[in-house]
Amino acid sequence: MIPAAFEYDRATSVEEALGLLRTHGADAKLIAGGQSLLPLMKLRLARPDRLIDIGRIEALKGIRRLDDGRLAVGSLTTYADLIASPEIKYGLFRDALPTIADVQVRNRGTIGGAIAHADPASDMPALLLALDAELVCRSAHRGQRTIAATEFFEGPFTTVLDPDELLIEIRLPAPSQHHGSAYRMLEQPASGFAIAGVAAVIGQTEAATGDTFDDIRIAVTGVGDHPYRAAAVEAALVGTPVDAPSIAAAVGAVCEGVEVMGDIHADREYRAAMAVVMAQRALEGARARLT
Ligand SMILES: Cc1cc2nc3c(=O)[nH]c(=O)nc-3n(C[C@H](O)[C@H](O)[C@H](O)COP(=O)(O)OP(=O)(O)OC[C@H]3O[C@@H](n4cnc5c(N)ncnc54)[C@H](O)[C@@H]3O)c2cc1C
Repeated sequence: MIPAAFEYDRATSVEEALGLLRTHGADAKLIAGGQSLLPLMKLRLARPDRLIDIGRIEALKGIRRLDDGRLAVGSLTTYADLIASPEIKYGLFRDALPTIADVQVRNRGTIGGAIAHADPASDMPALLLALDAELVCRSAHRGQRTIAATEFFEGPFTTVLDPDELLIEIRLPAPSQHHGSAYRMLEQPASGFAIAGVAAVIGQTEAATGDTFDDIRIAVTGVGDHPYRAAAVEAALVGTPVDAPSIAAAVGAVCEGVEVMGDIHADREYRAAMAVVMAQRALEGARARLT
């Protein structure tokens, strides 16, 4: 189908994009790679009066290491850019990124677009939750703010971003010395989106004793109405060696406190069972990758 008619502006700088957002606010939509928004417009599920194209703002592209060791990923960085980056050493990125969509989508789709779109079965939100990412956002009226990924996703296709707010970059903490991470998912074969996907990070801070781990982060996508951290599993594993018995004892709580989705691809019971299996596999994968 052909989208409904819309006005079009191409912003050449962050300031210009923020000015356009301030002027046109709720009537406008940002467009980055267009991989999520354009299909919705063609189906007329989205009918913005105006598109503000940010796709050529160079300042929003690329990956750089901050002085404190964190990684800053510009919101317009594509999946392909991330895959090619020598900075990306996290095992869960190596697991997830090459399997997202197809090469065309990976070349066009941006990290910022994936997060702002907030599809409840999308992969990137789970990865960023497990990595304890922070999201730097800016608007003309409220200036810049930094939002923890754990505070960002509110519901299906809903985030805490204001309509006039631009996601600028994603910041990832440096991994701890002794850490491992992995992502495991059961995908819906036709779309490739997760029926249940789990990202796991395990690590030791200086306070950890012996062979036990005290930095455990488990994030889940495809299961609830938005991606979430499985706090009960994390708590159960802190202070354990994250070995087979402790993993088996903990993963049953992966859907605790979450209303599990059911649809034509997977009913609630099956989806919840698959979340347990994916959590177990992700933790085992993270354990096997310990540095
Ligand atoms: C065929 C196909 C298969 C796919 N398979 C998968 C898959 O297996 N797993 C998966 O996780 N995803 C999958 N996707 C989704 C894909 O990851 C997203 O479409 C893509 O990453 C979105 O980025 P974009 O730049 O194209 O966003 P756009 O479509 O340009 O924008 C999406 C939304 O984000 C907003 N937005 C964009 N940039 C910003 C910004 N900087 N600040 C604030 N708001 C912003 C836009 O206003 C819009 O609402 C698939 C998509 C397609 C088309």
